[in-house]
Amino acid sequence: MKKQSFASLCAREIKEIRTTPPHVLPIYATSSFAFESIDQGMEIFKGNATGHVYSRYGNPTMDTVANKLALLEGFDLPDQPSCILFSSGMSAILTLMLSMLEQGDAIVTQANLYGGTTEQFNKILAKQGIEIIYTDLSNLREVASILNGRSNVRMIYGESPANPTLACIDLVALAKLAQSHNVYTCVDNTFCTPYLQRPLSHGIDFVVHSTTKFLNGHGNSTSGALVGRDARLMQEKIWSVMKLGGTNCNPFDAWLLHNGLKTLTLRMDRHCSNALQLAKFLMNLDAVETVNYPGLEEHPDHELAKSQMSGFGGMLSFELRGGLSQGVEVMRNLKMCTLAPTLGDIDTLVLHPASMSHINIDREVRLQNGITDGLIRVSVGIEDISDLKEDFEQAIASSVTS
Ligand SMILES: *Cc1c(COP(=O)(O)O)cnc(C)c1O
Repeated sequence: MKKQSFASLCAREIKEIRTTPPHVLPIYATSSFAFESIDQGMEIFKGNATGHVYSRYGNPTMDTVANKLALLEGFDLPDQPSCILFSSGMSAILTLMLSMLEQGDAIVTQANLYGGTTEQFNKILAKQGIEIIYTDLSNLREVASILNGRSNVRMIYGESPANPTLACIDLVALAKLAQSHNVYTCVDNTFCTPYLQRPLSHGIDFVVHSTTKFLNGHGNSTSGALVGRDARLMQEKIWSVMKLGGTNCNPFDAWLLHNGLKTLTLRMDRHCSNALQLAKFLMNLDAVETVNYPGLEEHPDHELAKSQMSGFGGMLSFELRGGLSQGVEVMRNLKMCTLAPTLGDIDTLVLHPASMSHINIDREVRLQNGITDGLIRVSVGIEDISDLKEDFEQAIASSVTS
């Protein structure tokens, strides 16, 4: 071929100069992949060969990180589960439900889910003719009676521990019950991460994550993940809906997630020890009525949590005796902790649901879900614990006197 013109040289892709492989996973910022030949392209499109095609379907950065998450969630399993990354935790949940459910099917779930999940079920799934049955998933007799009374339940969906009281579900017992009725189970493992709890090893079928939270850990990306025990089901049902729904992750957010994953164990150890110390400290303050943390012996699910989690996590909530006005006052007085409606970051984040995330929700409905006026939720960070205690102590002390 004759020498390319200047304009063509500018416009064309150029051969990558790479000798030794990179030590750190690269960001493959490419929307498509070039076939080596028409035959290769035909074989991949026919499904006879595997290969990357288009980044909505999959991409080396996303797939590599998904595979790492599958290894972590499936750490105790003989067969590796399968994982797909999504644009967010919400799109992971939506893709799962749209893949697995049809009009007329029902899911059984709990009222105290992540707020966005409840809204998605009520506003999107219900409109597709999917019935949402709310119950207390820790009451297995109640769950059994629902499963016995109905033939349209396809999925049980839970969170353990769950906002706001950090109530836990017996995962082994729930999975057994569901299996005996041929019903799938899914657990949102965002609060725990696979380091502290691996629902698949307790018999659960699907694990969903907002990887935006502890798994990324640094609050600098939004993404989600779904891990499924049955790799074929993941490929045939979930992947195809992800691909056609366009709910995929992207290389940059996957890469940021991977960066966070590397320090997961160090961070979680510190989140856990700081949360336990802060919980004990808050419990001894007169202005505090109750502290919800599964690591406290006083927590109603402490023994259950101990049996299925290897640590109690970084999330806690506590109830101020002074109700709504004291809640607002404490939020105003905190000097170091950040007021932010997320969780799982390096730094301590506080939320007063009654005046923030739930301010537009009917007080009665809010109270029914355990979001009381004086409840404060804390995502305990990895700072020095003495600074954290001091910040809460001064914020609460000055709120009592004002
Ligand atoms: C944040 C969160 C979600 C939603 O995840 P996004 O990444 O914000 O879409 C779902 N479940 C739990 C427990 C969460 O904390």
